[in-house]
Amino acid sequence: MTVTAPITQDVLTLPRKLPTGGKINIVGLTRDQLHAALIAAGTEERQAKMRVGQVWQWVYHWGLRDFAGMTNLAKDYRAFLAEHFTIELPEVVTRQISADGTRKYLVRIAGGHEVETVYIPEEGRGTLCVSSQVGCTLTCSFCHTGTQKLVRNLTAGEIVGQLMLARDDLGEWPERGAPKDETRLVSNLVLMGMGEPLYNFDNVRDAMKVVMDGEGLTLSRRRITLSTSGVVPEIARTAEEIGCLLAVSFHATTDEVRDRLVPINKRWNIKTLLDALRDYPRLSNSERITFEYVMLRGVNDSDADAKRLVKLIAGIPAKINLIPFNEWPGAPYQRSEPERIAAFADIIYKAGYASPIRTPRGEDIMAACGQLKSATERSRKSRAEIAAEAGL
Ligand code: SAH
Ligand code: SF4
Repeated sequence: MTVTAPITQDVLTLPRKLPTGGKINIVGLTRDQLHAALIAAGTEERQAKMRVGQVWQWVYHWGLRDFAGMTNLAKDYRAFLAEHFTIELPEVVTRQISADGTRKYLVRIAGGHEVETVYIPEEGRGTLCVSSQVGCTLTCSFCHTGTQKLVRNLTAGEIVGQLMLARDDLGEWPERGAPKDETRLVSNLVLMGMGEPLYNFDNVRDAMKVVMDGEGLTLSRRRITLSTSGVVPEIARTAEEIGCLLAVSFHATTDEVRDRLVPINKRWNIKTLLDALRDYPRLSNSERITFEYVMLRGVNDSDADAKRLVKLIAGIPAKINLIPFNEWPGAPYQRSEPERIAAFADIIYKAGYASPIRTPRGEDIMAACGQLKSATERSRKSRAEIAAEAGL
C-alpha cells in the first residue's frame, strides 16, 4: 500500500468571532459594502456615494487611520464616523529581516491567531506574499503550512490589512504636498502565503476588489497572482470575478505521484485540472498561467517528468516556475541537485516554455515558499501524527 496523506487533515476549524463593541472596521469593505454600511449607520442616501469616495481616498490612498484627520469632511460627520466605524489593521507581532532583504511579518489577527506575510524586494519592484487562511486544511506533503492544526479563513480586511501594514513598515504611503513618486516598493502581490485562497473565495475576491481599486491601493489585476493547489470548481470564478493571474501548484506529472504530493488531486485529478485551466486565459483575458513545480530529489525531477510535463500542458499559454524545495524541520523530502534542476529546466525551455528557477528568498528566517507556519503552531502536530490518526 502506498502511504498517502489524507486530502484534508484533521483540523480544528475556528468560526470567526466578530469583534465586540459594535463598530465596523472599514478596512476590507468593498465600495458597495461601505456604501451600505454608511447608510445603515445614518448617512443620507444621496450623500453616501460621495462619502464613500472621500473615506476611500483617505484610507487607501493616504493611509490615514483616524477620522479626525479627514479634513474635507465636516467635523460632525467625522465624529459620526468615529462613533460607528474603525480603521484597523492586524497587528505586527514580529518583523524579521533576512540577509537578502526579505522581510517576514508575524501578524496577529482577531482571536489571537497568527499568519505570516512576506515582502520580497527585487530590482525595481517588490512582491508581497500574503496569507489567506490561518494554516491550511489541505495536506500537501512537502508544505510546512499543511501541518498546522488550527485553521480559520481570513476576513477580507485581514487580507487587505497585510498589504497596508507592509506599506506602513516600508513607509510607502504618499506624502501630502510632495511630488508624486512613481516607484512602488510593493508593486506586485501574490496569494502564495499560508492557506488555500480558493477555499476562502469570497473574502479573497472582496479583498482583491479593494486592492485593485483605481483610487486606492491601485494594484492592477495583472500584478496580482493567485496560487491554488487545484480547487477546480472555483477556477472559472477566479477568472470571472477577480481576473488576476493564476498560478497552479502542479508539482507532478502522473496522478500517482500528484496524489501523494498534492492530495487534492484525489478529488480533482490532473486531467480535470488541466481542462479547467485551458479555459482560464480566455475567461480572464489574462496572460499565461504559471505552473509551479517544486523540485524534490528523486520524486518528481526526472527527464521523463519534464517531458511528460511539456506534453500535458500543450496548448495552454504557460510558464513553468521551478521551485527548489525549501526544507523545514521534519520535512520528508530533499531538494533536487542544482544540475538536475538545470537539466529539467532545459527540457522545458527547449520545448518553448519559460522555465525560471525561483531563487529561494529569506530562507534564513524561514520565509521561503512552503516554510510559513504560525510560530505558536510550530510544535503542535507532526505529519506522522496526522498520518497515524488517519490510519495510514
Ligand atoms: N495554497 C496555495 C498557495 C500557497 S503555497 C497553493 O498551494 O498553491 C505557494 C507555493 O509554494 C505553492 O506552489 C506550494 O506548492 C509551494 N510550496 C509549498 N511548500 C513548499 C516547500 N517546502 N518548498 C518549496 N515550495 C513549496
Ligand atoms: Fe495548503 Fe498550498 Fe501548503 Fe498545499 S501547498 S498544504 S494547498 S498552503
